[in-house]
Amino acid sequence: MKNKISEIYSLLYGTYGAQGWWPVTPVGGCGGNVQDFPIYGISLKNDKQKLEVALGAILTQNTSWKNVEKAVIELNKHNLIDINKILRTKHEKLANIIRSSGYYNQKAKKLKALCTFLIFTPLSKLAKMDVWHARKELLKINGVGKETADSILLYALNKPIFIIDAYTKRIFGKLGLKESEYDDLQKLFMKSLTPDSKIFNEYHALLVQLAKNHCKKKPVCPSCPLQNFCKNK
Ligand code: SF4
Repeated sequence: MKNKISEIYSLLYGTYGAQGWWPVTPVGGCGGNVQDFPIYGISLKNDKQKLEVALGAILTQNTSWKNVEKAVIELNKHNLIDINKILRTKHEKLANIIRSSGYYNQKAKKLKALCTFLIFTPLSKLAKMDVWHARKELLKINGVGKETADSILLYALNKPIFIIDAYTKRIFGKLGLKESEYDDLQKLFMKSLTPDSKIFNEYHALLVQLAKNHCKKKPVCPSCPLQNFCKNK
C-alpha cells in the first residue's frame, strides 16, 4: 500500500489538478456578495486569514463546506474574525451568526474555547513549535479533536501533518486498506509520502474531490480514476 499511496496521489493530482485549499476570504473582507465568497488558492495567508481557517476547522465539523461558507461570510459581515470580538460576543448572538453550520450552540462554545486558548497561545506561537508539540497543545482545547487540530496545523500553520477524515477512511477502505484508526492511517500516509505540507495539503483536498465526484456513499465507479486500484468497484 505504501507505494500505492504515492501513486494514487499522482493519479488524483493528474485528474483534478491543484485544489488550492483552504479557501479564505480575500483581503479587504467579505460583503456577503457572491464575488466575495471565500476563495481558493491563497497560499500565503495573513494572520486574519489563518484565524479564519482555524475557526472554519471547527465550523466544518459534521457539516458540508457549503454550510460553513455561509457561516464564515456571516462572521466576516459581523467583523468577527477576531479573537477578542468573538469572546466579547454573547453566546446566543454568536450561535445565531453561525447557525448555518449546524450544531451552532456547541460550535459557538467551541469557537470561544478556541479563542480563549489563542489568547494565551496565539497561532504565531504555535507556528514556532514542533508540529507534534503544537498538536498536543491544540488537543487540550475543548471541542478540538484530531481532525480539527490537524486541519489547523496543516491549513492555517502550514505544518506537515496528514489529515484523516471520513472520506479518507471510506476511499481507502474500498481500496483494501485494513487500518481504520486515525493514528494508524495517519502514520501510514506520512510514512508513504514526502513530508511536505504542500503534498499533504493537496492530497487531502484531492480525496475530498474524489469523494464528492465518485466515491460517494453510493459510489459512482465507472468513471472513477481509482478503478484500477479498487477492490470494491
Ligand atoms: S472505484 Fe468506486 S468504490 Fe472504488 S474508489 Fe472509485 S468510486 Fe470508490
